Amino acid sequence: MDKEEEYVKTLFYGLMKRERGMLARAITLVESTNPKKREQARMLLSQVLQYNKGLMAHSVKAFSAFRIGLSGPPGAGKSTFIEAFGKFLTAQNHRVAVLAVDPSSSTTGGSLLGDKTRMPELSCDMNAFIRPSPAKGSLGGVTRTTNEAIVLCEAAGYDIILVETVGVGQSEFAVSDMVDMFCLIIPPAGGDELQGIKKGIVEVADVVVVNKSDGDLVAAARRIQTEYISAIKYMRPRSQVWKPQVLRISSLTKEGIPDLWRMMQYFQQCMMDSGELICKRSKQQETWMWNYIRDHIMECFTTHVGVKKMLPELTRQVLSGLITPGAAADKLLKEFAKES
Ligand code: GDP
Repeated sequence: MDKEEEYVKTLFYGLMKRERGMLARAITLVESTNPKKREQARMLLSQVLQYNKGLMAHSVKAFSAFRIGLSGPPGAGKSTFIEAFGKFLTAQNHRVAVLAVDPSSSTTGGSLLGDKTRMPELSCDMNAFIRPSPAKGSLGGVTRTTNEAIVLCEAAGYDIILVETVGVGQSEFAVSDMVDMFCLIIPPAGGDELQGIKKGIVEVADVVVVNKSDGDLVAAARRIQTEYISAIKYMRPRSQVWKPQVLRISSLTKEGIPDLWRMMQYFQQCMMDSGELICKRSKQQETWMWNYIRDHIMECFTTHVGVKKMLPELTRQVLSGLITPGAAADKLLKEFAKES
């Protein structure tokens, strides 16, 4: 066995032994863009997937972890919620992993999400694992590595995985494509303050959580809850067995959190019993494969010698209207099809 294989084996057994340090190193490996490390990452993932397959064959409960996506505009109280919810879950002997998806962190020079200052108590909890978003990469790259990080967390024995997004770009939609349940967290405010919510994101939510329903804000929270309940009524249902719910909670007083968790467990049960969860996960695997392909082709395309040479001039011609975008794309694709 060479050194590379040895390292993969060490990581694999570290995951099996539920060592947090090894999980962190394994995630760093899948985030790497170095071709050698990518090869090691592929080896590790295939060992893990093989192992999971074996587990699934023996276990009545077909899924090793409950994957929950959390999204909402900045200031909605996501980190306060994750801290409160995470502690609530670890107190019930769950092992909770928190992953963040923040493709914008490449421009802000480092991730703002998932760090220790945002969730001080949870980050000290032995049954929790918090991982900030990879600091660089395209949305495609970040979501691919998050997908892989989910698999690694499951292998390390985390039974609840929270995937948090910052309200930027299309990351919410990408996250809704990699979880079992998608949760939109909103503050008790209307109009301008809710502008951070992407159009269409409510349609993909399985539950809308109105946070900060405490003190003077209870009346406003009730109003928003009613508004969302009636908005959801008119949306086309995405599931045969689940109607999206709107709940009020307070991450400060923790009121409503046990009800929310009960509802989430009920959701998971309904989705499992009906077979929808299996279908959803299979479709997500397919999406994951296509993301891989798209990412890889784009990388090959943009690094292709001939394409690189022709691209600046053709772009200039497109910008000045000398050539149509379609004709420019044809020329580039023809060049790409040649051997480089
Ligand atoms: P994020 O940007 O979505 O992660 O939001 P934060 O968790 O940082 O919260 C933004 C602000 O809202 C902070 O000042 C929190 O203390 C406050 N906050 C969060 N949850 C609650 C809550 O349940 N009730 C009240 N009253 N304030 C909250």
